[in-house]
Amino acid sequence: MPSGLRRGTPSPFRFCSAPFAESDQRSMSEPADQTAAPTRQRVLSGIQPTGRFHWGNYFGAIRQYIELQDAGDAFYFIADLHALTTVRDPDRLRGFVRDAALDLLALGLDPDRATLFVQSDVPEVAELTWLLMTVTPMGLLERCHAYKDKKNRGLPADAGLFTYPVLMAADILAYDADIVPVGEDQVQHIEVCRDLAGTFNHLYGEVFRLPKPRLVEGGAKVPGTDGQKMSKSYENTIEVFEELAPQKKKIMRITTDSRPMEEPKEPAGDHLYELFALLAPPADVAAMADRYRQGGFGYGEVKKALVTAAADYFAEARQRRAELEADPEKTDTILAAGAERARHAAAEVLDRARSACGLSRRHGERRR
Ligand code: ATP
Ligand code: MG
Repeated sequence: MPSGLRRGTPSPFRFCSAPFAESDQRSMSEPADQTAAPTRQRVLSGIQPTGRFHWGNYFGAIRQYIELQDAGDAFYFIADLHALTTVRDPDRLRGFVRDAALDLLALGLDPDRATLFVQSDVPEVAELTWLLMTVTPMGLLERCHAYKDKKNRGLPADAGLFTYPVLMAADILAYDADIVPVGEDQVQHIEVCRDLAGTFNHLYGEVFRLPKPRLVEGGAKVPGTDGQKMSKSYENTIEVFEELAPQKKKIMRITTDSRPMEEPKEPAGDHLYELFALLAPPADVAAMADRYRQGGFGYGEVKKALVTAAADYFAEARQRRAELEADPEKTDTILAAGAERARHAAAEVLDRARSACGLSRRHGERRR
């Protein structure tokens, strides 16, 4: 959001421009029709703390997730249990979780409007994962991309990666989520979640609400410093909150083509221009597009303009992040309150699930 977000740029997140209105009478298994008194749909989204957030994460996902806090009852979690399958250094993991919380809050996640929590602070989710695991066919998981891709590349995969979609299903079902905003690559996992919930409901009665994926629009691929998709794995990222001096160096080293300066160029498809278009005010973007078409300029000028545009775009967020960093208790309190709200919701769902499949209830009813 950086409320530097902004300057009349149309939000690419068109699908959520109106609040999700749902009936209070909705059935457990499907988000309901639009007839009765509207309530806010629960929107759920998680993000893995596997590194510092970069522009691709922000423009491709985080920005849209944060905008959703105005459209529904948003639950956001920092997926540290998922990150465990890739981050093996405890101090780094702790640091990434902390940074993720600070980054999200600085970027505009408002704890008064949305619930922010750390995944592992809700142990009910791990138990729910087991219950779901008992109705998960092996073949279903064998077909999932993340595991299949790794296996096809001959890389070792652990059971954590293999069963990742079940944990993800529990993440969603534990909070009776209606809507899960996702990129295209995650749609399959939502289908798995719906499958598992459906099987469980079929076996044991109406326990889980079936969520719906909502494709995140505007999540077009943000290019990295080498022109490929920006991605941690490609080491071509520019981090949102990187110090300005090293960030400038990185930007000045962005690869460009070697066409002569005089040659007029089409801006679309040029990764430097695309980055500029994300970060600069619309009038500056239009002027830059004209300059490309006219030719006679150097990429160095565009890079310098990008350095300034990026600094301006995230200036307020940087300021907010510095304030949050200076007051660690504030973030602790926000995460603790978020975890409490999330646990409350998850405990209810787990109770339903335990009781339905023949285990004693935990929270809602005294054990006999
Ligand atoms: P990895 O290299 O480990 O896959 P990553 O840098 O690609 O990491 P992810 O953790 O995979 O980042 O992505 C988190 C979210 O950010 C996802 O929703 C993903 O779609 C989005 N995202 C990541 N990179 C980009 C990008 N370059 N353009 C648009 N969206 C992106
Ligand atoms: Mg990725």
